[in-house]
Amino acid sequence: MEFTGLSLIKFTETFKTDEDCKKYLGQRKWSEGFKCKKCNHEKATVLKGKRTAHRMCTLCKREESPSSGTLFHRVRFGLRKAFFIVYEMSTSSKGLSSIQIANRYGISQKTAWYFMQKVRLAMESSGNHPMKGKVQVDEFTVGGKEKGKKGRSYDAKKKKIVGAVELTDDNKIKRFYALPIDNYSGKELETIFKAHIDIGAKVETDGWKGYNKMKKKYDIKSTKSLPGINFNEIHTVIQNLKSWLRAIPTHISKEHIKAYLNEFSYRLNRSIHKETIFDGLIGRMVEHPPVNYGKLKLCN
Ligand SMILES: [Zn+2]
Repeated sequence: MEFTGLSLIKFTETFKTDEDCKKYLGQRKWSEGFKCKKCNHEKATVLKGKRTAHRMCTLCKREESPSSGTLFHRVRFGLRKAFFIVYEMSTSSKGLSSIQIANRYGISQKTAWYFMQKVRLAMESSGNHPMKGKVQVDEFTVGGKEKGKKGRSYDAKKKKIVGAVELTDDNKIKRFYALPIDNYSGKELETIFKAHIDIGAKVETDGWKGYNKMKKKYDIKSTKSLPGINFNEIHTVIQNLKSWLRAIPTHISKEHIKAYLNEFSYRLNRSIHKETIFDGLIGRMVEHPPVNYGKLKLCN
């Protein structure tokens, strides 16, 4: 069974109990058969009673729960609440703060934040599908006070970002990725090229000299940025990202901005596949190994 659609009623009816969610995770986890984490044996017994969603290796007798070895490992507040949070984060177009989630599900703000960071970790792009064709790249800042200043800002409170958008032939936005950077040097700007841009892409940037470094390797056309005249597509996405971030009533530290950029891109890049976005994200969370609190705090 694969949950599709955007109906909250259908979602509520499908996932009535923690057990329903456990079974769903089990289906995803062992969709291509069982493989024991300890001995690699490929046969398992389905346990009875309360543990019907668990498997037991027929060789070493090790029992495995659907959530172990995934990002749902040790979710103490129940899988049903976790599923609802994943559903909200994958389908909502508004920014959700850990305070809102904490109030809604009766958990602490810290617990909510911690779980939401795990979801954002699963939203991180694999980088396996670099952007091809028409690509626009631009650098900008988020956070701090907006003074209506355009272009590169050197305000220390603002977080510097480099973003890239892939366009269709008729200039529709296909995908967007962004990464935090320390400064506007060629070395830093290059990170988005390495992570997300195909060597054959037709790249457009503004006239900033930082992009010169990449011109040996990439097909880059630099043009002076004129508001309203060019780069409208990437500027629109950047404006949307900024207002989405502003709507999250939580301070976002420099260390964690990457997690929020993952979240923004994940939803934007799947906006035409909204029907399956929840199921896809559950799949990613099942495939992602567990992370502990200390490690997550350092993730960026
Ligand atoms: Zn085994």
